[in-house]
Amino acid sequence: MYRSRLLTPGPVELHPKAQEALSRPQLHHRSDAAKKIFLQARAGLEKAFQTQGQVLILTGSGTAAMDALVLNLFQPGQRVLVPVQGNFSERWARIAHEAGLEVVRLDLDWGMVVRPEHLENLSGQFDGFLLTHSESSTGALNDVQTLAQTFKARCPEGLVVVDAITSLLVSEFELENWGLDAAACGSQKGLMCPPGLAYAALSPRALQCLKPRSFYLNLGAELKVQSSGESAWTPAINLVAATAAVLEELLPRLPQHTALKKQQNDILYTTGDQLGLTTVPEVKSPATTCFYLPEGLKYTQVKDAFAARGATIIGGQGQLRGKVFRVSLMGYSDIYDAYAVARMMRDALSFD
Ligand SMILES: *Cc1c(COP(=O)(O)O)cnc(C)c1O
Repeated sequence: MYRSRLLTPGPVELHPKAQEALSRPQLHHRSDAAKKIFLQARAGLEKAFQTQGQVLILTGSGTAAMDALVLNLFQPGQRVLVPVQGNFSERWARIAHEAGLEVVRLDLDWGMVVRPEHLENLSGQFDGFLLTHSESSTGALNDVQTLAQTFKARCPEGLVVVDAITSLLVSEFELENWGLDAAACGSQKGLMCPPGLAYAALSPRALQCLKPRSFYLNLGAELKVQSSGESAWTPAINLVAATAAVLEELLPRLPQHTALKKQQNDILYTTGDQLGLTTVPEVKSPATTCFYLPEGLKYTQVKDAFAARGATIIGGQGQLRGKVFRVSLMGYSDIYDAYAVARMMRDALSFD
């Protein structure tokens, strides 16, 4: 008998504070108690994103925050630069295209990171730069601070918008200090809550640029009501309570927490190296490992070998489907869980 383990880069194993918050009786979202919790969650998120601006809580998965940022910060015909290096950066390109923007793609091999040199030979000006901090489909981490600087040197008026969905609370993140204007996150990743909430962070500058053109994902309307702890539509208030509870626990010890995530991920990568696996990302994100499948093995064999030991892992997306597998300890886990999972990797991948 094995204990069950969820080792995917979202959803992840829940934080006990989230589970405890979710077991409370149902609140009405317009009650004073709910408003207090909503404001607590927003204040915690503003600390997590390190912004003097505002974080808006939306009901939806992380993609809702990405869509909301594009639909509220850009107008049809505006020109945006989108590096594509994995499934989630591809998503930025698709969202921007659907929103009627002129998308200039910068296609890189999946697993690679974007470097300032990649921006050198581009022509014309851009109204925006849509970046993925931690590309969870390949396990790569972009240096968004340096990229934002490079972009702003050539397009000072452009807005830098970042998918921080698997970097917030997992790796360091600072909105304004890094020169970023807006960022998106979701509840089922570093926050260790169930799926269902999206968080949209807006710097003071981005707040000046809001021009909403969506009925449901209207950040202007949300801004008006969320400052008093309400939201335009019925929010997933139970998940808001879970968010507030986890942040209360996590924020005071965030540097130790991100150090742990890196240490855990390093342990898994070291084991992968020892097993002769090839790593996918050029620069490793602490959110997840991503390995090419060993010669001669199919993803389903690897997945089943972990499943036989109680664990759920995940394979590749898009062009990496059937080529890679990913194991993540982004969820609630400690250093000894990393050693246990490293041992499981050894056992699961020895097919003799
Ligand atoms: C999980 C994830 C998303 C959002 O996916 P949803 O299914 O909409 O929550 C976006 N970007 C990255 C990097 C992710 O890991």
